[in-house]
Formats: sequence, structure tokens, C-alpha cells
Amino acid sequence: MIDYQNVNVSFGKFQALYDVNFHLQKGSVLHIVGPNGSGKTTLVKTLVGLLKPSNGMITINAEHMGYLPQKLNSKTNMPMTVREVIYSGFRKQRIKPTKEECELIQKWLERMEISHLFTESMTHLSGGQQQRVYLIRALISKPDLLILDEPTSALDPSFREKFYLLLDEIHEQEKMTIVHVTHDLTDAVKENCYVMYVDQTIKFFGTYHDFHEFEHKGHHHA
Ligand code: ADP
Ligand code: MG
Repeated sequence: MIDYQNVNVSFGKFQALYDVNFHLQKGSVLHIVGPNGSGKTTLVKTLVGLLKPSNGMITINAEHMGYLPQKLNSKTNMPMTVREVIYSGFRKQRIKPTKEECELIQKWLERMEISHLFTESMTHLSGGQQQRVYLIRALISKPDLLILDEPTSALDPSFREKFYLLLDEIHEQEKMTIVHVTHDLTDAVKENCYVMYVDQTIKFFGTYHDFHEFEHKGHHHA
């Protein structure tokens, strides 16, 4: 599904990422962790196609991507309602959503516990509520590749746990490939997921189980 070969990304003289090589199979879940400014968002942007690598080759076999960018939690001045943001996530834009689309939206709003906000203006929402709306937007059209850049950063801790369970459910039901950048990798993740530790290059790529060992050896403090 995803293949990176010798990928480098530079901003002028600054090399944000170098020698990035990895392969991810269809249907996998990958959690990307690493210090601030280590290139996680940059990596994800190359996945989405927002950034071109300076060198190397990226191959992606996805029909449809869902993307939740980082830093949407800053107070937006966009005069949009929750409804409009979610509608904009559908592949086909109609003047009026179909009955099926309405039901789907309703289902997701309930799952995210924000049904009461459907007609609310985005500006009236808390950061966490906005994040949930954008999450629904990324999910609503059933992408086969779902890319989430710190989706839980603005969520309250109680919803965070739920979020991981939700991610599992989505993965099981929809068989999506999921790439998830996070600051708070918890034991709530599934044992069979993959973890990547990025610090300008890939310092670790493997199972969650093996990641524990890597962490305990303190490699990333070196
Ligand atoms: P992370 O998501 O891991 O916190 P980023 O990928 O956002 O890190 O950033 C990695 C590094 O690249 C940082 O030092 C950041 O300042 C730099 N960077 C990111 N985007 C740009 C850009 N468009 N122009 C110049 N430097 C950038
Ligand atoms: Mg980032």
C-alpha cells in the first residue's frame, strides 16, 4: 500500500527528513511518534501529496484518502457550521445530502458524542469538539487510507481512550489502512499495530511489542 525509498525532504538548506525507507501493507495500522519538530507532520504531508520529496521515491496504492491535518484546533474564524464541514467530506458534493448520507452523519455524530452540535457554528466549538468534527469529515466517505496527524491533541483525556477504541473499531469494520501521528501512544493500541519512531529519519519501525524494548534501551535519548 505504501512504499518509501530513500526519501529526503529539505526546506532550503534544512533537511527535515533523510533516508526514509519503509513499507506498509494494506490494512495495517501505523502509529508515528517522535519528538517535536522531528518531521512527523512533514512525513505525513508527503503521504498526502502536499509536499514533494526532494529525493527518493514514494509509491502509494490508495483509491481514496481521508486526512486530518494537525493544528485545526486553533480557534477558527471560518464561518462554517458543523454540518457544512462534515458534508464537505463526502466524495460527491450534492446540493442536498441523500437520506443514506444523513443517516451516516447521524451515526458518526452519535459515536463522537456531538449530536447536539450538528447545526452549530464551528467558531462556537471547543478545540476538542472541532477535532471530532474534522475526524468525522476524514472518515465519512470510507477512505481506504486514513491519515490522522495528532487527532487527539485537543481531546480531553476521557475521550482519548475512547478514541483509540474507536480507531480499532473502524479498522476492524472498514479494513482501512491507518496512519496515525500521536504524542500519547498508550497501551490502548492493538498489539498487532506498527510503530514508527521518527527523528529526522526512521529510528525504529516495528511492532508495538518490540517498540517497548526499543524505548527501554533508551535509543531515542542517544
Ligand atoms: P513534527 O510534526 O514532528 O513536530 P514537523 O514535520 O512539523 O515536525 O517539522 C519538522 C521540521 O521541519 C521542524 O524543524 C520545522 O520547523 C521544519 N519545517 C516544517 N515545515 C516547514 C516549512 N514549510 N518550511 C521550513 N521548515 C519547515
Ligand atoms: Mg506535527
